[in-house]
Amino acid sequence: MVIEHGGVVFGSAYDEKFMPRQIYVTNINDLQKLRGSKYVTSDTQNTFPKVKKFLEEGKIVLYTGVPCQIGGLKKDYDNLYTIDIICHGVPSQKIFKKGEKWIKKLEFYI
Ligand SMILES: Cc1cc2nc3c(=O)[nH]c(=O)nc-3n(C[C@H](O)[C@H](O)[C@H](O)COP(=O)(O)OP(=O)(O)OC[C@H]3O[C@@H](n4cnc5c(N)ncnc54)[C@H](O)[C@@H]3O)c2cc1C
Repeated sequence: MVIEHGGVVFGSAYDEKFMPRQIYVTNINDLQKLRGSKYVTSDTQNTFPKVKKFLEEGKIVLYTGVPCQIGGLKKDYDNLYTIDIICHGVPSQKIFKKGEKWIKKLEFYI
């Protein structure tokens, strides 16, 4: 609905290095990238200033993320909608990277 009304949807998508990043989409087909749980911290990058810019242009913005990301957004705008997913905690990207190296080493021994 947000996209059908010319709005912008922010959420978590994997980048080319398989790390989750907060991105925005304006096309219904691109929503697929945001679907599914990524069990690593999704880098918010510079999405918050982008949200502000879109809101001030009068666009509807839907921002989805873990509760601490949503907690960091100012809710002073009527055109801002947020969804915080149920989250017991998020492992850091550093841990994920270390795990990746460990798995590769393990493969060497198998
Ligand atoms: C780190 C983490 C912890 C979770 N802990 C719990 C829990 O304790 N209990 C429980 O019942 N469920 C937990 N979940 C599951 C989560 O609540 C599900 O993603 C959600 O229920 C699926 O909702 P949906 O059907 O709308 O999925 P979808 O329509 O597929 O939407 C998934 C949404 O999650 C967002 N998202 C995915 N990964 C991340 C991420 N790493 N950071 C920020 N946003 C992200 C996407 O942008 C998307 O908007 C956890 C998920 C994650 C990523």
